[in-house]
Amino acid sequence: MTNLTKDNLIAILKDEGITDKNVLNAMHHVPREKFISINAQSQAYENQALSIECQQTISQPYIVAHMTQCLLENKTLSSLKILEIGTGSGYQAAILSELVNEVYTIERIEQLYKTAQQTLKKLHYQNIYFRYGDGHLGWSDAAPFDGIMVTAGTDCVPPALLEQLSPYQGRLVIPVGSSRDLDLISITRNKDDYHTDIIEKVSFVPLKPGVE
Ligand code: SAH
Repeated sequence: MTNLTKDNLIAILKDEGITDKNVLNAMHHVPREKFISINAQSQAYENQALSIECQQTISQPYIVAHMTQCLLENKTLSSLKILEIGTGSGYQAAILSELVNEVYTIERIEQLYKTAQQTLKKLHYQNIYFRYGDGHLGWSDAAPFDGIMVTAGTDCVPPALLEQLSPYQGRLVIPVGSSRDLDLISITRNKDDYHTDIIEKVSFVPLKPGVE
């Protein structure tokens, strides 16, 4: 049994400014309880980040919804190809998968990479491609991407991700700053021009180099 229901959570997301109906529908459809441990089941629909394996976290639902809304704003959803850095539990990838044509997701911790694949396979998601590796490098053989979402914080934007954005309104959403003071920003590419918007203060686990 969960304390808060999905309907409670959707009402909270609306109150906090999530207006995109497609995003709200995806948040309603994806069973968050399948991405967390048995011990945390009662908190599945609370609007908070939760611990997952390997000292990582599944993001707060509001942040998942807001990052998704910012990434996909003004885009034609059915044709989009999106890259996510930081698969973690696989929850954000599932939300994206409900909305766009193809999702590519990269994780640097092998155990999480494997568990997320199993979870998403059980839930019958078929348009998600997984890679075990360092997301700083992006996924060059699948580029360009209409959107790239980084779900870990960094002090500098990885250049490969900027290069792998579509030159036609490709958008990167990424938490940038020092570990205690991160701004969620979006960078929208128009050919050689990159336009940055600051969205809000956030907290995230760090984007780390290499794999483990
Ligand atoms: N999107 C996740 C939240 C993940 S937390 C979800 O929906 O559950 C951040 C994740 O980023 C962690 O799993 C961490 O291992 C991963 N990560 C950190 N640095 C990375 C890197 N350089 N490349 C790929 N994944 C990375």
